Amino acid sequence: MDFNWSEADLAFRDEVRAFLDEKLTPEIRRAGRLMTSVYPDHEASMAWQAILHERGWAAPHWPVEHGGCKWSLTQHYIFSRECTLAGAPVLSPMGIRMVAPAIVAYGTPEQKDYFLPRILTGEVFFCQGYSEPEAGSDLASLSMAAVEDGEDLICTGSKIWTTHATEANWIFCLVRTSRTGKKQEGITFLLIDMTTPGIEIRPLVMSSGEEVQNQVFFDNVRVPKANVLGKIDEGWTVAKYLLVHERGGAMSPMLQVMAQELTEAAASQTAPDGGRLIDYPAFAARLADARIRTEVLEVLEHRTLSLMAQGKNPGPSSSMLKILSTELSQQLTELALEAAGPQGWAYQPHATAPGGPIANYTPPADGYHSGAPWQAVAPLRYFNDRAGSIYAGSNEIQRNILAKAALGL
Ligand SMILES: Cc1cc2nc3c(=O)[nH]c(=O)nc-3n(C[C@H](O)[C@H](O)[C@H](O)COP(=O)(O)OP(=O)(O)OC[C@H]3O[C@@H](n4cnc5c(N)ncnc54)[C@H](O)[C@@H]3O)c2cc1C
Repeated sequence: MDFNWSEADLAFRDEVRAFLDEKLTPEIRRAGRLMTSVYPDHEASMAWQAILHERGWAAPHWPVEHGGCKWSLTQHYIFSRECTLAGAPVLSPMGIRMVAPAIVAYGTPEQKDYFLPRILTGEVFFCQGYSEPEAGSDLASLSMAAVEDGEDLICTGSKIWTTHATEANWIFCLVRTSRTGKKQEGITFLLIDMTTPGIEIRPLVMSSGEEVQNQVFFDNVRVPKANVLGKIDEGWTVAKYLLVHERGGAMSPMLQVMAQELTEAAASQTAPDGGRLIDYPAFAARLADARIRTEVLEVLEHRTLSLMAQGKNPGPSSSMLKILSTELSQQLTELALEAAGPQGWAYQPHATAPGGPIANYTPPADGYHSGAPWQAVAPLRYFNDRAGSIYAGSNEIQRNILAKAALGL
């Protein structure tokens, strides 16, 4: 494993840096820096997607014929790392990162022609309809019904925790088309236009106060069979393919930025005895632990990248990376809340860039907030990051996978 970038990689890094320097406006950078969860402000994220699209970099991992870039794995990593270090907001993953690769792999020519270009421009914005009130970790237990009626499927049931359902104009859903056989059989992967009659969205208020997740109700919603991705009753294969893409991506750059900003913040904060918080041994030890684990995560990510670049199977490393990165994020947000002190007890989301509307909250007319913006971000980020060990396959489930695949238990 060689940890040094090649001359060509360094030249590519400089090209990306120059682009980011030029194109990241203060508003877009603000949305990236003051994000309160993994979901940035929707408008800023879409504005950034349009700029990336203009440069041909909105979906670099797609096949070149559909608008992707002919980059090496290392270049992908460098690009994602530089974007994070520069404070760019992440793009919404549900379209570009998740359903698009599934459309490329399983879509009809008509589906590819319709959806892929529109996902790139943002004209089509997808949300993910997998989870149901009675089907989360055990996803194959899902029960939202889709009954065949001529050229259509009639859908009835509900999806829950649907992120950005109010912003989306399309949803990809797993629906039950048959109840015979194993529960993984009889599932169909369906693309549904959110403007179809019979769909109702009810926002869920998260502990941070944000309305980013929703419950979506379907009452006899008529969907053309032409919108099935793959084959009827064979959607589980498509669903699993998509989950591999949901769990990918480098987390260490974002955690390094968080750790660095926290270190700088702690150096400017006073501890109870009047000294600098960073010199307070109990705090410094926990911060050092988080920083060391972040370095370990980076090494593990590089190792995975290196194996994949050689065409080797990285094994269950995505489960290991998911556990480590989400636990680290929780550790860092706990420390940030502690470092923010009394200013971090104040609820002042207007000084942040939340991922959705804030329920029942009226910001002060003059925009006043106490403390620095990072202190206003700290409590919202703390609450949101509790969810990191739940979504994209809970950490208990990831540990089960590791126990089987790595330990042979
Ligand atoms: C912020 C957020 C955003 C989300 N966005 C979306 C979205 O856009 N679209 C979507 O479809 N879903 C979304 N989800 C839902 C998410 O995928 C589910 O919450 C997740 O799969 C867990 O399912 P559950 O909530 O039903 O919990 P459950 O599956 O009921 O689990 C409850 C607890 O039991 C544990 N557990 C369950 N089974 C086992 C087992 N076999 N062994 C050990 N422990 C187990 C779990 O780890 C967990 O701690 C989101 C969730 C959150 C929190």
